[in-house]
Amino acid sequence: MTSVMGKICFVDLSSMKIELRDIDPAITKDVGSGIGLAAYLLNQEIPVDADPLGPDNVLAFMSGLLTGTGAPVSGRWMVACKSPITGGWGDANCGGTLSPAIKQCGVDGIFFKGIASYPMLFVFDENGPRLEDARDLWGKDAVESEAILWERYQTKRKPAVATIGMAGEKRSKIAGIVNDRGRLAARSGVGAVMGSKNLKAVVLNGKQIVPVFDRMKMAELSKEFTKKVTDASLPPILNGKIVPILGKVMAMGKTYGASDGMLAISVMKKWGTIVNNTMGLHNGDDPIQNWKGSDGDLPRKYARNMNPDGIVSHQTKKYHCSSCVIGCGGICDVDELTKGEYKETHKPEYETVNAFGALLLNEDMDVIYRINERLNRAGMDSISAGSTVAFAMECFENGLLTKNETDGLDLRWGNSDALVQLIDKMITREGIGDLLADGVKEASRKILNSASMAITAGGQEPGMHDPRMDPMLGIHFSADPTPGRHTVGGGSYYNSLHLWEVVPWAPKVKPKSKKSDDYLASEENGMKAVAGAAYKQLTDIAGGCLFAMATGYRHWRLFDYLNAATGWDRSPVEYMEMGLRSQTLRQLFNIRHGIDPIDFKIHDRIAGIPPMTKGPNKGKTLQIDGMLREHWLGFGWDEKGIPTRETLTKLNLEEFIPEDK
Ligand code: SF4
Repeated sequence: MTSVMGKICFVDLSSMKIELRDIDPAITKDVGSGIGLAAYLLNQEIPVDADPLGPDNVLAFMSGLLTGTGAPVSGRWMVACKSPITGGWGDANCGGTLSPAIKQCGVDGIFFKGIASYPMLFVFDENGPRLEDARDLWGKDAVESEAILWERYQTKRKPAVATIGMAGEKRSKIAGIVNDRGRLAARSGVGAVMGSKNLKAVVLNGKQIVPVFDRMKMAELSKEFTKKVTDASLPPILNGKIVPILGKVMAMGKTYGASDGMLAISVMKKWGTIVNNTMGLHNGDDPIQNWKGSDGDLPRKYARNMNPDGIVSHQTKKYHCSSCVIGCGGICDVDELTKGEYKETHKPEYETVNAFGALLLNEDMDVIYRINERLNRAGMDSISAGSTVAFAMECFENGLLTKNETDGLDLRWGNSDALVQLIDKMITREGIGDLLADGVKEASRKILNSASMAITAGGQEPGMHDPRMDPMLGIHFSADPTPGRHTVGGGSYYNSLHLWEVVPWAPKVKPKSKKSDDYLASEENGMKAVAGAAYKQLTDIAGGCLFAMATGYRHWRLFDYLNAATGWDRSPVEYMEMGLRSQTLRQLFNIRHGIDPIDFKIHDRIAGIPPMTKGPNKGKTLQIDGMLREHWLGFGWDEKGIPTRETLTKLNLEEFIPEDK
């Protein structure tokens, strides 16, 4: 008995045919479930000439191998497809309640191809899977649509719903998919793909029980992690005002060593991700003014207005994704802050606050609450939206955009008065909003001489963490098959994973490692990034959360959870091979769809070419080309990032060896 359900539900929206297909257990033994299984199947299902917004693209909703098993913090769901942003592999990951609901329908994933002739819903409950008319919901925002569907399909319990808002309906390439009242699977343009299929929402309300190989062991392991999380606490002296000072102190160190990831859990419990809005200001992690500024350029009240204690003071309840014992989320009362426009919103994430704060030199937090709720309802990626506004502001500064093109909006740095209007225009694709609604890459193509300001990796706006501060991020931003991906984690995550204790090929973090060495194109740096990426893939196969993962394998015992759930009795090295396999399949998808991996390399500005002349990242440059080469070779790919025949054979992926190789 394993925690794999062994079936995928295939839905053809053009023909309205639905079938349940068995998955060969030999495949799940190799690639697991979650992102690994999606990467295996979509390599077969999506033809190389598929238009990302056309009928041949397949949108896959996936649950995880550990989801529903009682393993802690394992309730994330993933969605994968061909990305309309890069033309290659696309995926996004989200918490909330959808992941267990997929498995409770008796399947590991639900795949959609084709295009419905009018807006439809997919419903899977005790009456089975079916398509229903959703024309009454088209045009409604995600939160409103979800509330209607919760009521309409309520049985003894509320169904899980994933839906698009206006951004997905209008096929904005920076649209995501929403569940749980505004949590987004945001990246890769997955919402545009759902909109292009005329699929408004997925409603799940099954009752199946997820099998577990050893429930007693799982309960024991879960109890152990829960206790560690409960016991994790910060010294009372550490408050929001001290956080920026901590960032400054961190920037002063010239060396580092391995760390204990549980320290971060107490921070996450207290504040959530917003702690980084002030901690990262002075250590160089937070991108400022479209990645060209530094802490000295910020408006005077920025750190005070973004104080995490101030944001948490509006939190009325904590928010946990399914099976999470950490609970980094929260719901904030914003009635007064938004002048009655919204009653509440999810506590904004660090990424959103930075993308609409420091990146734009905006110090108005009240405007960020309003934008946060607007984007959640529209289903638009806040990283990409904020990055696109930053790009537009730099174009405005340099005269490439004037008020004639911006519908009269004054896009000066820090002008918060223009922001809400601009976001509304992007959501509705009105005027200047239409130019910006597809993200930085598309906007830059239409604005002459703007390439030097268009900060992307392979066309995707990178997450709000600066590779000039953590060079391993530069590798992941450039080398992940979904470029710009910050959630693979950088060097600071690697230092807390302790993988080298159980995976001999993962380089050990030595005491007093020199920070300056991290900028070099060394085999060691390339291999550390391989181990980090493979472990993140395994986490995404399992449906785990990045923040639990970052505590390290000794605390969030992923290898042990997997054995308890599946009975596979594998070693960490064998499980890491599953992660390598998944990453290789994602890379193969890109190669097959015509992508040259070097084209995903980060924009020169964020590789420190030329280096900054001020701030904590002053003088820092990554040897990015050489780092990528070492990373790809570490995977057993060639130096151009193409998986070799030998590696595909070793990973049992012979069926994907191209005929001419
Ligand atoms: S740590 Fe935060 S993001 Fe991760 S599962 Fe828990 S609530 Fe969700």
